[in-house]
Amino acid sequence: MARIRLFIDHPLSKGQAVPLDAAQAHYLSGVMRLRAGQDITVFNGRDGAWSARLDEAGKRGGILTALEQTGPQRDPPDLWLLFAPIKKARTDFIVEKATELGAARILPVQTDHTNSERIRQDRLQAHAIEAAEQCGGTFVPEVTELAPLSRLLEGWDPARRILWADEARVGAAQALAGLPRGPWAILVGPEGGFSAAERKRLSSLPFVTPVSLGPRILRADTAAVAALALWQAALGDWMDA
Ligand code: SAH
Repeated sequence: MARIRLFIDHPLSKGQAVPLDAAQAHYLSGVMRLRAGQDITVFNGRDGAWSARLDEAGKRGGILTALEQTGPQRDPPDLWLLFAPIKKARTDFIVEKATELGAARILPVQTDHTNSERIRQDRLQAHAIEAAEQCGGTFVPEVTELAPLSRLLEGWDPARRILWADEARVGAAQALAGLPRGPWAILVGPEGGFSAAERKRLSSLPFVTPVSLGPRILRADTAAVAALALWQAALGDWMDA
């Protein structure tokens, strides 16, 4: 059986006692049938992977003891994903896939044609944690609260370039060769695409590079996965194997 991996928001050092909340204790003992004295892998997003022993698990919580570091901390490249939330299951999918594909920060944005006015930030953050546990990562991207795209662009640090998945370029030749490595963000629009005003604004910003994702119009969730893979292969950590 694959070793159990659990994210815990707690410092890790040799012999450190780590409290478990009720949900974590239930997951380990009730769902995974782990018994006191058995080991799992834990990570906190900063200190790499650690082995830890279960000491206690009850209805209200439990305790682990951190034993030793078993793997290094591995952070993704400095890549953000900005996306307009769509239907719940598809938004969950985007957060899960962005975590697996190595996004460092996930920012839901409100655009002129955004399909959804509200998100459950805590639920999306929990999806990112689950995806990191499942894919063997030691890093969990932060999922931010929904913010208007226009406001984010106003305060944007021009040192972070934006790769804009622009549906108007469908089928255009796509050229990432020659773009610099460094901090980037990917921007994917909602099912209704970007408005004329947004398109005009984005086109005028020197740090924005429009990109085509091929000759077919993709759904927003597909577009997010495609753009992340494209960026990772051209400018990210798929290059460094
Ligand atoms: N309703 C729009 C399509 C929106 S698709 C239309 O008919 O034109 C949702 C988002 O996915 C777009 O805003 C864009 O960011 C991205 N996208 C989808 N297909 C794409 C492609 N071929 N090239 C670039 N971006 C694409």
